[in-house]
Amino acid sequence: MATGIPAALSDLGHLVRIPGMAWPAFDQTQLERSADAVAALAKDTGVFDEVQVLRAAIPGTDEYGQPAVLATRAARNGKPTILLYAHHDVQPPGDDALWETPPFEPTVRDGRLYGRGAADDKAGIMAHIASIRAVSEVLGDDLELGIAMFIEGEEEYGSRSFAQFLSDNKDALRADAIVVADSGNLDSVTPGLTVSLRGNARFTLRVRTLDHASHSGMFGGAVPDAMMATTKLLATLWNDDGSVAVDGMTARDTETPDYSEETLRDEAGLLPGTSPIGDGTILSRIWNKPAVTVIGIDATSVASASNTLLPEVTVVISSRVAPGQSASDAYDALERHLRAHAPFGAELTFSDLDFGDGFLVDTSGWAVGLTRDAMRDGYGVPPVDLGVGGSIPFIADLVREFPEAQILVTGVEDPYSRAHSPNESLHLDTFRNAVATEALLLARMNRREA
Ligand SMILES: [Zn+2]
Repeated sequence: MATGIPAALSDLGHLVRIPGMAWPAFDQTQLERSADAVAALAKDTGVFDEVQVLRAAIPGTDEYGQPAVLATRAARNGKPTILLYAHHDVQPPGDDALWETPPFEPTVRDGRLYGRGAADDKAGIMAHIASIRAVSEVLGDDLELGIAMFIEGEEEYGSRSFAQFLSDNKDALRADAIVVADSGNLDSVTPGLTVSLRGNARFTLRVRTLDHASHSGMFGGAVPDAMMATTKLLATLWNDDGSVAVDGMTARDTETPDYSEETLRDEAGLLPGTSPIGDGTILSRIWNKPAVTVIGIDATSVASASNTLLPEVTVVISSRVAPGQSASDAYDALERHLRAHAPFGAELTFSDLDFGDGFLVDTSGWAVGLTRDAMRDGYGVPPVDLGVGGSIPFIADLVREFPEAQILVTGVEDPYSRAHSPNESLHLDTFRNAVATEALLLARMNRREA
């Protein structure tokens, strides 16, 4: 078995060449290849008692989810057990023409490895494998830590069988600490421990004011059309500065690292004359406060516009929920607000509710302290606590199934990784430091009593 960073990068390149995507439009046998390749890497470490490729049922259907790898070794002599999570499926590459080098052809340029999955999340898998190789090489038979490794095959496609997989394999997955290596760092030199994630509540809202469409010259000015009611209603969701104006949607109050308006403008592509929205520090707006966005609308299209009063308009609203509030509580507040503000007594119908809870890490546990120390030593730079504006919904499933476990959200990405976008890449120094960090964490946990 080859070890060290060059071997890990070569294995990572091999994984990047396998285009495993869980969308039905892609060749699903690639996910089997990809799971088998990960299982072979796990077996080759020599530390696991058992390595399996497994599928779990998708609840409410007669289908099974994509193949996941489950590798386990029991703890010896009362040592703790750690569960290492990552995923081997990737996002579709999008338009190949936007890639500077082909998406499934791993390419090193300027200290970065380019390719779909090079960062999200095949580098997470290789950080686990490479750190296991390193501790097993150094500790030999003194490695007594219990290790479970769970590499999912459909994270990018909604983790549909995830909860079922956890309950099917509950005993094999039970651990004192869980490392979820699917997040990022403050920048390519400063490690980050992700301590909060926003949740997500999404729903469809139909606004009706009329029984049927009418000539706008006949009744316009005397009866409200649905577009007028909808735009007036939606406008009540925000204050003048663009912050959310919904009573009952909460915010979290905590310090955030510096992040300049200039960086925000650059990274988000804000037009020169457009100003940012919200109040408080920029990162507190993204990490700790709610956001409400209208992401879809069904109304007459511009091409088929006529002088008609619209009887109904349908919109899809997506809200980001502050960590610490449940998605369903935030939704209740939104529905209450919209019903209370419906103009002209417009009829509102809510449907297609979809909730993902956010997450606040309990940072008081011993594993958090051990992880911060390992980051400081592995990167040579003290770590910072990070929030994430998006969500990793399966973390709520982990907490539900394993309430006793300490959850450590780490990762190999940096702000230039462009996960999900063309030209995704991994910073090679970050990867090396992430492997060193995880190896230190495993070695130090190996010294503890459970
Ligand atoms: Zn990911």
